[in-house]
Amino acid sequence: MSGKANNISTIAIIPAAGWGIRMGGDRPKQFLFLDDRPILAVTLSHFQECPAVDAIIIVTPEEEIEYCRKKIVEPYNLDKVIKIVKGGQRRQDSVRLGIEATGGKYELVLIHDGARPLIDSELIHRVLRAARHYRAVITALPAKETVKAVDKGGVVLKTYPRKEMWLVQTPQVFRYEDIHEAHQKALQENWEELTDDALLIERMGIPVHVVEGSEMNIKITTAYDLKLARFLLQAT
Ligand code: C5P
Repeated sequence: MSGKANNISTIAIIPAAGWGIRMGGDRPKQFLFLDDRPILAVTLSHFQECPAVDAIIIVTPEEEIEYCRKKIVEPYNLDKVIKIVKGGQRRQDSVRLGIEATGGKYELVLIHDGARPLIDSELIHRVLRAARHYRAVITALPAKETVKAVDKGGVVLKTYPRKEMWLVQTPQVFRYEDIHEAHQKALQENWEELTDDALLIERMGIPVHVVEGSEMNIKITTAYDLKLARFLLQAT
């Protein structure tokens, strides 16, 4: 997409308020270094550079807001970042707080995990292009392996047809009204832990369109993921 061809005002919300305990270390995982830059700075740089994105809101733990401003936003000249807001206990709380912080000033809300720094501009363009035509858009990859539901005792409950299985990533893009209403509903009706935002939209009966994601766009959760991400970055 060249420039703001679609003319739809768009904000990127970057949830980065998880602590990433599994990673070890004294900082939340998104502040660990990927190359000579912190993971979160790399993630943000893709949205900073994308002409179709007007503004960015970062959601981070309250005690990291200053650090984020001083060590990430200012040194990397991320001037599209309009706010850094505190997150919540669950990812869905963090995203909701990010959406509330937009003040409803943008038509499209793109949500992307701070822990996925290997997103590329082509993927951002693909998802935003699709969002011109579809009300809700997510990125996902077709499953290469068979997916089974397994009970707590380790016994298989069900096997799913692989052709229908997709592994869901971010970015995900929604109309502001839809995603705002969905998150408010989830809060009021006390919906259980939700691992992606699209599920809320599906529950409202809105069709969710899938765009092919990227194998590179891994979520850094463990120390292994960080090693893999460093390798992938060097190999490209
Ligand atoms: O590991 P998880 O899938 O929960 O994390 C996905 C993204 O959501 C990460 O970037 C993480 O920092 C963020 N998150 C958040 N608030 C939480 C939990 C996770 O912003 N309470």
